[in-house]
Amino acid sequence: MLDGAVRGFLLAAYDALPNSSMVLSAVANTTGEESREFVNMYWRDLLAWGAFGLLWSAALGLGQVLWWRSPPKLPGPRGWTIVLAILLFALVVGSLVSKPWRRHHPLLFWPQWARDVGDLRQQWASLGRQRSELLAGAAAIKPVLSADGPDTLVLVISESMNRSNLSSYGYPRPTSPALFERQRVLGGQMQVFRHAWSVNASTVPALRNLFYFGAPEAQERVHLLALARAAGYRTFWISNHNDLAIEQEHARLADQVSILNNMPGRGSRALDEQVLPVARAALVDPAPRKLIVLHMLGLHPHYRMRHPAGLEPFAGASDGVDARLRAAGRPAWLRELRNDYDSAVRYHDSTVAATLDLSRQASGKQVWVYLSDHGQEVGHTIDRAGHSATTPDGYRIPLMLWSSFDRAAPAQGLSAPVRGDWLGYSLTRLLGIDWRGAEPKRDVLDRRYRWQAPSLPLKIDFKNS
Ligand SMILES: [Zn+2]
Repeated sequence: MLDGAVRGFLLAAYDALPNSSMVLSAVANTTGEESREFVNMYWRDLLAWGAFGLLWSAALGLGQVLWWRSPPKLPGPRGWTIVLAILLFALVVGSLVSKPWRRHHPLLFWPQWARDVGDLRQQWASLGRQRSELLAGAAAIKPVLSADGPDTLVLVISESMNRSNLSSYGYPRPTSPALFERQRVLGGQMQVFRHAWSVNASTVPALRNLFYFGAPEAQERVHLLALARAAGYRTFWISNHNDLAIEQEHARLADQVSILNNMPGRGSRALDEQVLPVARAALVDPAPRKLIVLHMLGLHPHYRMRHPAGLEPFAGASDGVDARLRAAGRPAWLRELRNDYDSAVRYHDSTVAATLDLSRQASGKQVWVYLSDHGQEVGHTIDRAGHSATTPDGYRIPLMLWSSFDRAAPAQGLSAPVRGDWLGYSLTRLLGIDWRGAEPKRDVLDRRYRWQAPSLPLKIDFKNS
């Protein structure tokens, strides 16, 4: 009951869960004085939700006392009551056996929550220091800004987007009409890299590889945001994620941070379009050079939460894609998930195209880059849906580039395979940053680019798939 009251209060007041990074950081960061101010401000809500908890706890307590004093006569089990009892029993046992369910049990959840708050306090001391070191290290490199760089680079990072499911990459369903239309209108100004690959199948390592130039554990590691800042860029991190690790390791390196989502994990329904007004505001910021990172929720499971309710163009589709899945023996639930995924891709397409339009409408020299952290398996090769380290689709990502003033990639780059962990080298080039760490062999925009296959736990035909 108390658990429900706390959650009810947080949802009503902040639209947030107790283990969201917002709540965890607020609690870890608070002082006695702040707590008093908080109670002063929210005493009405606290009282109402406190009363809710107390009232229902009292009702529960009273019921148990009555039951204890004069236990009701139980009817003998027979017929459907036995079935019902077994079902209820299975539900109770199942909720304790399943790890994602069990974690929500208040007796497990709150001790873990208290540990998270403690860990966070400890990490902050060290992460804050790490960030200062990264910024100081980048400044010491003395990166030089060339005059032919852009005024603004918008970097759109999607989540769990498998390029195979974009019509821009030849998917038979019309999942990306908006991007497709931009490709048609912009011609050679918009470039689509056919064979882009992540080298990680999950978010945290993928982003570490992207931002630390493929060497996140190196002694002298360099962070792309720190480097851009040292070179004179004003940096923005605008996110529809709620992930403490990403926020602490990457986002907080930016000059300006906007975390728009207060729900961690998979339950959040926050739609990616909420980054658009914040991105628009960042684009008109008066700083002469800007790097704007938009971190989208993209196609993060659950897929049906990644599009507005009712916008499901592929629900129950019986088309060529579905026929092929049937022929491959994919079960009905998985085909349904594929439909959900594709409907979410369709919505994602409109949001991504909207970010491109914002860049196109902005004044000055503009560059826009779109990619995903990793791919997603949705019945492509196996009977599974989700992040996948063991099938190629777990690594298959889109990569697109638009520049208002320059045809950035040499033609052979578009058909060459590209690695997500090397993209930092291309991004610094696009930003017009000269620095001693540049590696033309790893920069797909350079004529000296040389592909090297990453070592992954499976065999992939990188050049042809
Ligand atoms: Zn991810």
